[in-house]
Amino acid sequence: MKTWNSYVNPLVSSLPPSGIRRFFDLVTETKGVISLGVGEPDFITPWHIREACIYSLEKGYTMYTSNHGLLALRQAIAADLEAACGVTYNPKNEILVTVGVSEGLDLAVRALTCPGDEVLIPEPSYVSYAPCVLLAGGKVITVPTTMNEGFRVTAGKIEAALTPRTKILILSYPNNPTGAVMDRRTLLEIAELVQARDLLVISDEIYSRLTYTGEHTCLAGLPGMRERTVLLNGFSKAYAMTGWRIGYAAGNPDFIAAMTKIHQYTLLCAPITAQMAALEALKNGRLAMTQMVQQYNRRRLLVMHAFRDMGLPCFEPGGAFYAFPEIAGTGLSSEEFAERLLQEEKVAVVPGNAFGPSGEGFVRCSYAASVEDLTEAFRRLAAFCRAHGLRPKTISAPRPLPGERRPLAGGATG
Ligand code: PLP
Repeated sequence: MKTWNSYVNPLVSSLPPSGIRRFFDLVTETKGVISLGVGEPDFITPWHIREACIYSLEKGYTMYTSNHGLLALRQAIAADLEAACGVTYNPKNEILVTVGVSEGLDLAVRALTCPGDEVLIPEPSYVSYAPCVLLAGGKVITVPTTMNEGFRVTAGKIEAALTPRTKILILSYPNNPTGAVMDRRTLLEIAELVQARDLLVISDEIYSRLTYTGEHTCLAGLPGMRERTVLLNGFSKAYAMTGWRIGYAAGNPDFIAAMTKIHQYTLLCAPITAQMAALEALKNGRLAMTQMVQQYNRRRLLVMHAFRDMGLPCFEPGGAFYAFPEIAGTGLSSEEFAERLLQEEKVAVVPGNAFGPSGEGFVRCSYAASVEDLTEAFRRLAAFCRAHGLRPKTISAPRPLPGERRPLAGGATG
């Protein structure tokens, strides 16, 4: 008999385990840890959204929906996209409700990638992009970005990475892990290149509502881009709904039809209860979302200044809820920094190299944590940096606003 592992699809065996997952196995083994590692809102889903879901169950909504998702939800998504991006999508055939952006990403990559196609991924990047491309038989081409250029990919860098086999560009702004946002001018240059070189774009805009320094520009809203872009978005981050597993894809009807084929044979449809909750989020969730964004913004400033005071250069994150300070000055690698910080001070951050080699020398720190936890974490971080030869100043923390809550549970890998 051969080894069990030899039965496994080589595409799967060749995937490295997620750097975040490996690190969080260490976190769960350590008591008293403050985790700034998890990419998940610390807020509980607003009550009116939970209530709408409970009510839908009381009324007996427990069945499958259309493969595309509830028409009422698709109509609400279309209205939301029109208001936010100025792009009109037909709810009947240009929107697909998915099990989170995670499923939308997998569907888009699988529907569009042929074996050997090259897919460009700016780096540091969210951990799922490269594995999804590899599983679809595509070839990953990373395009490194640096702190000096604000972790933004440029048309010039993309052009330099193009080959005759390049087919898809995956864009993700506001960005996980850097917090970088894209300016309209750079996006326009990228859009021009994409059209000139006949590329497609998968645009993961899951953090589009979490911006602090200006409005998010939706790629599909730029001239000529609507037909070439699969727009992915969801409810996990903006509405604190990670556990509901609900998102959507919008785009060209032929792409959506291809994605729907895979979706109908694999997932069938997103859970109806989550769809009901998402509908309520779009109808009445604006106020709660704005309040959460205000909280993240206060924490963002606290965290950015705290890192700078500590002697760790920290690029200003314009979106999402991550800071990405440079820790190279400590003489430690990203993994050493994160592991020793965990062992010595019981604070968990994610090593930057979990997001690709260009994340080396950085760590990702989520500020979707209560101000109390952040304040204590930064007291410990300051002690750690002092012990490693940096000279921190004292840090100050804003007081929590009314309504700030602690998490019920954690542990995801986002
Ligand atoms: N895209 C990015 C950039 C993310 O950071 C995450 C989660 O952390 C996801 C997608 C997954 O989102 P969802 O919960 O909608 O599947």
